Amino acid sequence: MIYSNLCILNHIHKMDLIVEPEDYSPSINNNGEYIDIVPSNNSKIFKIGMRCPCGTRKDVVFKEPSKFKTHIKCKKHKEWLKNINNDRFNYIIENKKAQELIMNQRQIIEEKDTTIRCLTKEIAQLEIQLNEIKNPPQDLLDIDIDP
Ligand SMILES: [Zn+2]
Repeated sequence: MIYSNLCILNHIHKMDLIVEPEDYSPSINNNGEYIDIVPSNNSKIFKIGMRCPCGTRKDVVFKEPSKFKTHIKCKKHKEWLKNINNDRFNYIIENKKAQELIMNQRQIIEEKDTTIRCLTKEIAQLEIQLNEIKNPPQDLLDIDIDP
């Protein structure tokens, strides 16, 4: 039993060590336009690796700013950034819709949570009652019903 628990702990510990690369996200300038800014050389993102969501080089994980600097000059990446800028008002609308959806989902989860808490309480009370029926108090059995 102790051994298997140690195995589980060991497994969880190993899982913690697997860090997924993060997605690059362009910055926004003063005009509200998306622009490429290469994270600095000592940025944490290059230590864990960074993927570019433009989809040009799907399997590539960038670990050096110089390689990413070269990548953002490619035609497909520039096209992707241009499309983001063209669609940015749609993104704002979509983001607002997504925020509303999150709020609705959160409310539904809270309601379900309350229901679960009530039902758990009810089950606990019913278990106590059931236990009392199964095991009536001894002094009741001792009552002498003969006249
Ligand atoms: Zn890219």
